[in-house]
Amino acid sequence: MSHPRIHIGLAKIAANARTIVGMCAAHGIEVLGVTKATHGDPQVARAMLAGGVTGLGESRLESIERLKAAGIDAPMTLLTVPALSEADAVVEHADVSLNSELSVLQALSDAALARGRIHDAVVMVDLGDLREGVMPDYLDGFLADAVKMTGVRIRGLGANLTCFGGVAPSPENMAVLVRLARDARAAHGLALDWVSGGNSSALRLIQSGHMPAGITHARIGEAILLGRETTHREPWPGTHQDAFVLSAEVVEVKEKPSHPVGEVVEDAFGHVPDFPDVGDMDRAILNVGREDVAVEGLTPADSRFTVLGGSSGYVIVDVTPAHGSVKVGDRLAFTLNYAALVAAMGSPHIEKIHS
Ligand SMILES: *Cc1c(COP(=O)(O)O)cnc(C)c1O
Repeated sequence: MSHPRIHIGLAKIAANARTIVGMCAAHGIEVLGVTKATHGDPQVARAMLAGGVTGLGESRLESIERLKAAGIDAPMTLLTVPALSEADAVVEHADVSLNSELSVLQALSDAALARGRIHDAVVMVDLGDLREGVMPDYLDGFLADAVKMTGVRIRGLGANLTCFGGVAPSPENMAVLVRLARDARAAHGLALDWVSGGNSSALRLIQSGHMPAGITHARIGEAILLGRETTHREPWPGTHQDAFVLSAEVVEVKEKPSHPVGEVVEDAFGHVPDFPDVGDMDRAILNVGREDVAVEGLTPADSRFTVLGGSSGYVIVDVTPAHGSVKVGDRLAFTLNYAALVAAMGSPHIEKIHS
């Protein structure tokens, strides 16, 4: 059986981490390596740690468990705010969690005390992206209650941008976070060593030297895994964009029309296809599909080829420029965007090959 495969270049991931960590360190910023797109792949995590990240971030407890079961003892941060019902498991598995609800913090505190521990919490502040976080006007009251919970230690403040509302980090919104941290230190006697300014969308601001002093921490995934900053998705200088390469086998290749023949109605996913008529073309069908990967996020390694689309089990590629040299049984390779990477790494049908 020849499954589709994802080839994972660990040396490239380590090199990318080294580049990002070095750039951030030059601006006084510590980097948490975000492995969540790999669903807790221990070898990817080790490569990031080899590249200098000081801890790992995952969005699911199961992924943290997977990393720990593989013997990785770096500090683990849970990047999604915990569900109230999982407080005990969060305290058991994660060293740090991001938080925005007092009831959850209270449950974490109780669970930590029951285990004779202190759990580290980062309080998220919403700076306008409208995903998770306490609104700035309510932060002081939130912290006044939080500091009374003896099972949690408020390790820092964090903000998440460019994730839901598409708001970019700026000197202005980052200065708000720095000011809130300064006020919180003064009012509540907190150390707040993590002032965590964001993700791969913060890299340009950091490199430009305009990230306000006082931002001490960043949580970086995509730029290390795929070598891109995320405000414009441009390749980050000195990083590899092909640390992950998907390949799948050609199961049919035929000359066919480019425009469907007959009445066109909805496709299997509820969209009405609109394929331009550009005459006959050589169409290769691959044994990977929407069940396994976000088809729109695939870019053929051979730049002459075009992904035409996909269905549950197939991806269809225009290979006309190869002039008949693509054969059944060949493998075609693709780089992936973040959505395609997340799906492919989570697909049991795709074999993971580390090198
Ligand atoms: C996913 C995530 C990150 C990492 O984002 P990238 O764009 O991959 O760098 C950082 N922080 C939080 C809270 C996240 O969920």
